Amino acid sequence: TYVITESCIGTKDASCTEVCPVDCIHPTPDEDGYDQADQLYIDPEECIDCDACAESCPVDAIFSEDQVPDDLQSYIQKNAAHYA
Ligand code: SF4
Repeated sequence: TYVITESCIGTKDASCTEVCPVDCIHPTPDEDGYDQADQLYIDPEECIDCDACAESCPVDAIFSEDQVPDDLQSYIQKNAAHYA
């Protein structure tokens, strides 16, 4: 799976939601709660590891799970928890 990390907070550009082929990045700007969410999250059960979101992110917030930097490891659980 891919993981959205700290750089998304305060940015939420949401270009990733437009390129994801399986629509597994939420919340999207059309959903209730978008303004309340600190950041966007990827559903680990749905992600097909296509890398499109990482390419589209203007602040490089998105990493493959096995490439998340050490200081951002907590975001792996944070993304999963959004869908628990
Ligand atoms: Fe969606 Fe692909 Fe990003 Fe996974 S890697 S969240 S499938 S755009």
